[in-house]
Amino acid sequence: MRAEPKMWGQHPTWTEGIRMRCPYCNHTDLRVVDSRDTETGEAIRRRRACNACGKRFTSYERVEAVPFYILKKDGRREDFDRHKLFGGLMTACKKRDISPTQVMALVEIIEAELRGRGQSELPSREVGELVMARLRELDDVAYVRFASVYRSFRDLSEVKAEIDQLLSGSRHGRKRRPA
Ligand SMILES: [Zn+2]
Repeated sequence: MRAEPKMWGQHPTWTEGIRMRCPYCNHTDLRVVDSRDTETGEAIRRRRACNACGKRFTSYERVEAVPFYILKKDGRREDFDRHKLFGGLMTACKKRDISPTQVMALVEIIEAELRGRGQSELPSREVGELVMARLRELDDVAYVRFASVYRSFRDLSEVKAEIDQLLSGSRHGRKRRPA
């Protein structure tokens, strides 16, 4: 077991005005004692020390300069746009019991997972499938909404088929979100 927690820094856009906190005492008065790239070069590993309690921990921050592209079906390449993903997920989660913070966390998880695949570009289909898989774990209704837009279901029977599949899945013991 690790003696100390690993902290993942977040994208500055999400954390504007929010500073990294000491995992031990929650203080924001931190200093960097050592900084180096991780093996994959996709994150910076920093040893930090808390000026309040004196404890040390390791943080990992993504290098935003690393470009990451989505390959569209028509062959175009697009920058991965977390704001667009956030917007799409917020629409899917409308009137569900899901907070923007949860959606933000979902975007973070998805992006980290995509970047973790270590490729500079990924087909949009692969991205969509991952988003749907993660969303499905969070909320069935939001998942069906997102899937219906993403997969451009031609008619309601396709939506119904997806819902039926979901329902039969849950009957066979799939883990459900507590009500
Ligand atoms: Zn501290």
